[in-house]
Amino acid sequence: MRLIEQEGKALLRRHGIAVPRGVLLRPGESPPAGFPRAGAFLKAQVPEGGRGKRGLVRRAEEPGAAEAIRAALGDPAAPLLLEEAMPIARELYLALRVDGTAQAIELLVSAEGGVEVEAGAPPLRHHLDPEAPGAAAGVFAALRKGDAFPPDLAARLARLAVRLARVLAAEDLELLEINPLAQLADGRLVACDAKLVRDDAAAFRHAPAAEETPLSAALAAAALTPLERRARERGFHLVELPGGTVAMVTAGAGLGMLMLDLLGDAGLPAACFMDNAQGGPDETMPERLALAFEIARRPEVKATLFYTTIASRPLKGRVEALAKALRESPPPKPLFVGFAAAHASLAGYSLEEARAALRAAGVAALHDDPLELVRALKAAVG
Ligand code: GDP
Ligand code: MN
Repeated sequence: MRLIEQEGKALLRRHGIAVPRGVLLRPGESPPAGFPRAGAFLKAQVPEGGRGKRGLVRRAEEPGAAEAIRAALGDPAAPLLLEEAMPIARELYLALRVDGTAQAIELLVSAEGGVEVEAGAPPLRHHLDPEAPGAAAGVFAALRKGDAFPPDLAARLARLAVRLARVLAAEDLELLEINPLAQLADGRLVACDAKLVRDDAAAFRHAPAAEETPLSAALAAAALTPLERRARERGFHLVELPGGTVAMVTAGAGLGMLMLDLLGDAGLPAACFMDNAQGGPDETMPERLALAFEIARRPEVKATLFYTTIASRPLKGRVEALAKALRESPPPKPLFVGFAAAHASLAGYSLEEARAALRAAGVAALHDDPLELVRALKAAVG
């Protein structure tokens, strides 16, 4: 889930990171007494970047600023962030992300941040482990390789990067991007904008989103389709894919990505993608099938593909459970089933027996090889 700026900054503040003072204002609300209003900014709280260029960040003193932002958002009740102005001497860019391939935290820093960051030179990249001894020294050395960062700035950036990397890990963030990271005239660094994305699979380790980050949670829920919301309530992730023609049920993101590619290559794009939120896929399999069948009822969807691994558990039990579920709720379009089964699962029960049992329950084809499964599907409905 992407956190809106105000809730991302509240999280950073909780970790002792310098952010401007700010309050969330709903229509008709005024800032608390003593809030420094001169030069303050009003900022739309939407989970998108590029607000500055779209007129969604304005000086609060500008007459009608709040109304103009709310009109541009199409939401007269939208809460806005009123934020004290920072005397910015220099705008930098700093981001930390989880590099899944390297299984490490990657730091990206650019000497020219702000709304035109993409037009500037590509950011400097550096892998860091915030708990390793000498982490800050390593960042400092990386920053000092070129001439973009003078020693004082490089030292401040290195200390901040290590602290933010700890926040990234502690808060299970996939991304923590500060743009602009403002350097003030006295040298201090202040996070003037914040884009934080939390790994949904780790949500259970934190306070419920509705309590800790209510606005982000509400915006994320509003962006879900009704079926995606139902999946979330049942403990797994569903992403609907516009233009898809095959309702796809898979277990785990890796297998899902593989089938997504195979279907795409076959000219039969998937209409949905599923992933585990917590726990194993087995517990939510009936719900996954039920949602897939709802998608399969749409006129443009031609088939349902069900592909799962059963590791070394007995195949027989799985096949019988699936056959029973299909007799109770028959597939609305041809159903193609795949099991990636290890040898142990086939002890005393062959794929042929499984095929016969499933055919009797209305399954069009059963294969253990994903490519063969997609070929069978294409031959039937492509
Ligand atoms: P974004 O366009 O959605 O990324 O929104 P930002 O929060 O980054 O705001 C856009 C721009 O407004 C920034 O790049 C800054 O140039 C400017 N800005 C935001 N906050 C301040 C501030 O406190 N002081 C100054 N001088 N400029 C600010
Ligand atoms: Mn920004």
